[in-house]
Amino acid sequence: MKFNTKTIHGGQIKEKAYGAVMPPIYQTSTYSQKSPGEHSGYEYSRTQNPTRHALERSIASLENAKYGLAFSSGLSAIDAVMKLFSPGDEIISTNDLYGGSYRLFNKIYAKFGLKFIFTDLRNLKQTDKLVTNKTKLIWVETPTNPMINIIDIKGLSKICKSNNLLLAVDNTFSTPYLQKPMDLGADIIMHSATKFLAGHSDVILGLLALSNDELAEKLYFIQNSSGAICGPMDSFLTLRGIKTLHVRMKRHCENAKVIATFLNNHNKVDKVYWPGFENHLNHDVAKSQMSDYGGMISFTLKGDFELVKKITSSFKIFTLAESLGGVESLVNHPATMTHASIPKEERDKIGIADNLIRLSVGIEDISDLVDDIKQAIN
Ligand SMILES: *Cc1c(COP(=O)(O)O)cnc(C)c1O
Repeated sequence: MKFNTKTIHGGQIKEKAYGAVMPPIYQTSTYSQKSPGEHSGYEYSRTQNPTRHALERSIASLENAKYGLAFSSGLSAIDAVMKLFSPGDEIISTNDLYGGSYRLFNKIYAKFGLKFIFTDLRNLKQTDKLVTNKTKLIWVETPTNPMINIIDIKGLSKICKSNNLLLAVDNTFSTPYLQKPMDLGADIIMHSATKFLAGHSDVILGLLALSNDELAEKLYFIQNSSGAICGPMDSFLTLRGIKTLHVRMKRHCENAKVIATFLNNHNKVDKVYWPGFENHLNHDVAKSQMSDYGGMISFTLKGDFELVKKITSSFKIFTLAESLGGVESLVNHPATMTHASIPKEERDKIGIADNLIRLSVGIEDISDLVDDIKQAIN
């Protein structure tokens, strides 16, 4: 089955009771049993629910993975992965990580004895040197948020394989439409399905996809034991969103390309971060591991925070809001919004300047979007 067919049919099974075309929302906590212990495969909805199960099979299919797991949020999916590790274990991650992941690592899991090393994962040699006999995992996000850096998944996978480490990829920004980390050597794929996968800014949900049997068993055990599962309604909404993923992503990419080019030629714009530019530091890596360049763009304005505040408040079609990946275009000021939980000195080190603006380019008519940016900047 080709990808664009998988978004609609991947991992889905025909509903037998009434022939419903859409997966029913099984809003139930428990299931009747014929005799003690003899059930239909479903006993209790924390453990498994048919609607959630349909979503889990869908993400496994899209990511060319064997297993899928769904959680109440992207962060609870990451939380489940962290529970694989024990005090003293070391995890290497990127220094311009999603703010919430950084907070989970540094404020929650560091307290329980996990050690996190944040580095520029684009530098593979340096990353290799940071591996010790305690290192267990490399956690990567690419493109990164909000600097839109591109990290070489295959390169990291080589380091992981030769040191017996796991490689986890947060594939939220790319989605399997653009990038398939499993095919590039990743062990675990994580999604904030809240963003592009569900795609309509109406649900918070997290997903994992993986193929290793033993690892999957451990993660299902954690999912059931910790219980951060998503409900059947949210599973349904995400499944519904995924059906149009390929159509939406195509338009996100087309619109972003036009806007990145427009910004690049604007005299009030300083730098534009978009991996489709040939002079983007890892353009070649992006070209080889992604099928297109995505809907996310960051840029700096020539001016200070006051000007940025004025401009980000002047958009009429772009909405000033956190989050990304929905059909509607959003504008975000990372330093005060999504990345405020990262200390200023850390932000400065990675380039999250006070005059940095991040756009999540939606699928509206491109001329309206360009006009809106024009009027806001002017
Ligand atoms: C939003 C986001 C998360 C967290 O997901 P939630 O669904 O908000 O919990 C993790 N990683 C990235 C890259 C994100 O954009």
